[in-house]
Amino acid sequence: MDFAEVRLYPKGNEPETLFTGWNVSQAEFYSEGTLVGVLTTQPIDRVLDYKAPEGGCLPGAFVEVPLGPRKVLGVVWGPGKGDYDRSKIRSIMRVLDVAPMREEMQLFLQRAADYTLTPMSAMLRLATRAPGLSDPPSMQKVYRAGGREPDRMTDARGRVLDVLDEYGGLAFTLKELAEHAGVSTGVVKGLVKQGAVLEEDRPRDLPFPRMDADHAGKELTGDQAAAADSLRAAIQTDQYGTTLLRGVTGSGKTEVYLEAVAECLRRGRQALVLLPEIALTAEFLTRVQARFGTKPAEWHSGVTMTERRRVWRMVAEGHAQVVVGARSALFLPFQRLGLIVVDEEHDTSYKQEEGVMYNARDMAVLRASICGAQVVLASATPSLESWTNAEAGKYHKLTLTSRYGAAVMPDMRAIDMRGEKLPSDRWISGSLQREVLARVEKGEQSLLFINRRGYAPITLCRACGHQIGCDHCDARMVEHRFLKRLVCHQCGESKPMPEVCPSCEVEGRLAPVGPGVERLSEEAQALFPDARVVTLSSDMFGSARALKAQIQDIAEGAADIIIGTQLVAKGHNFPLLTLVGVIDADLGLQGSDLRAAERTFQLMRQVAGRAGRTERKGLALLQTYQPEHPVIRAIIAGDEEGFWQAEADERRLAHVPPFGRMAGIILSSTDVQDVFDLGNEMARRDGPLRQIGAQVFGPAPAPIARVRGRHRVRLLIKADKGAPLQGAIARWLTQFKPSNQTRISVDIDPQSFY
Ligand code: ADP
Ligand code: ZN
Repeated sequence: MDFAEVRLYPKGNEPETLFTGWNVSQAEFYSEGTLVGVLTTQPIDRVLDYKAPEGGCLPGAFVEVPLGPRKVLGVVWGPGKGDYDRSKIRSIMRVLDVAPMREEMQLFLQRAADYTLTPMSAMLRLATRAPGLSDPPSMQKVYRAGGREPDRMTDARGRVLDVLDEYGGLAFTLKELAEHAGVSTGVVKGLVKQGAVLEEDRPRDLPFPRMDADHAGKELTGDQAAAADSLRAAIQTDQYGTTLLRGVTGSGKTEVYLEAVAECLRRGRQALVLLPEIALTAEFLTRVQARFGTKPAEWHSGVTMTERRRVWRMVAEGHAQVVVGARSALFLPFQRLGLIVVDEEHDTSYKQEEGVMYNARDMAVLRASICGAQVVLASATPSLESWTNAEAGKYHKLTLTSRYGAAVMPDMRAIDMRGEKLPSDRWISGSLQREVLARVEKGEQSLLFINRRGYAPITLCRACGHQIGCDHCDARMVEHRFLKRLVCHQCGESKPMPEVCPSCEVEGRLAPVGPGVERLSEEAQALFPDARVVTLSSDMFGSARALKAQIQDIAEGAADIIIGTQLVAKGHNFPLLTLVGVIDADLGLQGSDLRAAERTFQLMRQVAGRAGRTERKGLALLQTYQPEHPVIRAIIAGDEEGFWQAEADERRLAHVPPFGRMAGIILSSTDVQDVFDLGNEMARRDGPLRQIGAQVFGPAPAPIARVRGRHRVRLLIKADKGAPLQGAIARWLTQFKPSNQTRISVDIDPQSFY
C-alpha cells in the first residue's frame, strides 16, 4: 500500500524520499555461496567468514549468522579471508530488511575504533542500538473515514465521524481515535462493520513528515546574516569543513545554524543536531517546528523503544531529514549526511566516560570528514581545543558579537565574601540578598546557582567526627532531603538517613555540613518568605517531561527565585530573569583537574548569560573568597580572548592538551593487590611507549579509588602532539595478561581525571 495516499501527513509535509534504492551495482554484489567476511556484535575481534545466502547479499548488508549454537547480528564487511577450512564455513541465515551499512559508515567505525582503541564489535553495537532490527517490518491497523452513513446515528458515533472529518483524511490507531472522540473502542469497531470507518494496515515505522526549508525563516541581523551566508556557502561545497560559531548566549547562534540546516535540506542531505542535555530538546524541537513546519526525529535516552526503532530505520532510508539527539546519534545510519551541528560544543557531557570512551565532538569531525559533510561547533565559551584549532586555521571561525535585539550582556561583579561575615551555615550574603529582594519587588526573576546536588555534601557526627561514606566507594554520601536518603554520587548507592552515628552509635548528633542545592533552597525560603522559590536539579524530576514542564512554567513567570545546579546553566531561556547569583564561584577552581580553570570560566559565563536575555539589563554577582584569582578576574572583565590566551600559554608550556597528547589507563579489580601489581608491571615494561617518546606516570590510586567495590588504579601517559600514541599503547598492552577479575580501560584524551 502506498501510505502517502492515506494522507498521514498535513498537506505539504508529505515525506520526501531522499533514498534512492540500495545503490546496487552488479560488481558489488555477492552471489549465493561467495565467501564473505561478517563483523558481528559478539566480542570476537575479527571478521568471520561465511557463505553468502540464497539470493546473495550486498556489501554492508545487515545479516543474521550462526555462531556456535546461536544466531547473532552482523554486517557483511567485505570479501571473505578464506583462511578457514572451507568445508566448515556456514551460510548467512538471513539478510535483514534494513538498508545496508554504507561504506563510509564502515570506515567511520573503523577509524573511531582505531582512535579510541575500542574493539570493532563494540563499535558495531553502538551502531546497532535499536530494538527489533531483525524483526520483519511490522504493520499496524489504522482507521479513517469510510464515506458510508451508519444505519443508526448515535452521539458517540457522531463524535467519531466528526473527529475523522475534522482531521480530513488523517488515519488514527484504534486507541487514538477512541480517545480523541471520547468513546469506547467498541463504537469504532461498530462503525467499521457498517463501512462508515475503514480499517487498513500500514507499516508501524512511518517516515517523518517532510521539512520545508523555506517554511518560516527569520530576518537575520547583519552579522547573523553574514554568518549564515558563510555556512550556506560551506554546505554548497558538498565537502568537509568545520566552523566554530562563537557568540554570547542569546546572540542568535541557533538561528544561524538553522539556516545551515535549511541549506542542507535544500540539497537533499540529512542534518544532525547534537545537544548536550535532553532537557533542552523540547525547546529546540519547538523552534525547529516553527522554522521548518514539522518536528524532527529525536534520539536520546528518553525516546521509547518503538520510536527508537522507527528513527533508526527512517534515518537509514533517508526518511528522517533532521535528527536532534544526544552524542550516540552520531552512530545512526545516515544515508546522506550533510551537516552535523554540535551545540554547546564545550560541554563535558559530550565525552562518554564509560564503555566506549569517545568524545562526540571529535567523532563528529571524524564522521563529517569521511562523508564530506560540514560541522558547526557552536558555543559562547568554546573548549580550548576548538579555540586553538580555529586560531590555527584548521577550523573556520564565525563570531556573533552582540546579543539579539535590545538584550545586552549583564553587568558582572564579584562579592568579596571575606567582607560579608556570614554565619557558617548560611550562604547567601547580605549584598546578594538585597539584590534579590529588589528583583522580587519588581516582579523580576533571580537565579541562585550552586553546582552541587542534594542537601549537604557531608554528614558529620558531632560526637565523634565521623563522616558517613559509601560502603562501596571512597566517596562521602550526600544527603538528599528531598528523597529522605543518603546517596553516593559515584555509584548511585543510597540508604535511609540513620538516626544514630554508624561509628560511635550516639543518637541525634549527625549534622549536615556545607551547602547543596536543596539546602540553599531552604535558606532562600527563610530569607524571602513571600517569594515563590523553585528548585531545579536533575535528580528531582522523575522524567524529562516533568522537567520540561517545570522549565516552561518558570519561563512563563511561575517563580520569583530559581535555585539551580548546572542544569540551568545550559541554554534555557527565561525572559524575566535579570539577576544571577553564583553562590560559590570558587568551587571549580580547586582540584587538580587540568581543565578546572577552563570549566569554571565556561560555567560562570554561561550562568551569567542567563540574566537579561531580553530588554531588561541583567546583573551577575559572583560570591568568591578570591576575587583576585585570574579566572575570576577574566570572568568579571569579560575578557575572553585574554583568558584563552593565558590558558593556552600555560598548557603549551606544560605540554598538555591540546599541545600534547594524553591517555588515561584505568585498571580495576576486586583485588587491590592485583591492580597495583599489574599497574607497577605496566609502568616498568614501557618499551613501546618510550619508543615514541611517551612517558608513563603512576600507578596511582584513582581520585575515587574504589567504585562499586572495585579498586581503581590509574596510569597517565603523556606524549608529544604528533606522536602515534594509539599504536604504541596497543603494542604495549599486548605484553600483559590481566587476571580474570581485572579490567583495563583506555581513555584517549581524558576529560575528567576520575
Ligand atoms: P543563541 O543560540 O546564541 O543562544 P538564539 O538563537 O537562541 O541564541 O537567540 C536568542 C533569542 O533571540 C531567541 O529567542 C531567538 O529566537 C531570538 N532571535 C535571535 N536572532 C533573531 C532574529 N534575527 N530575529 C528574530 N529573533 C531572533
Ligand atoms: Zn558508592
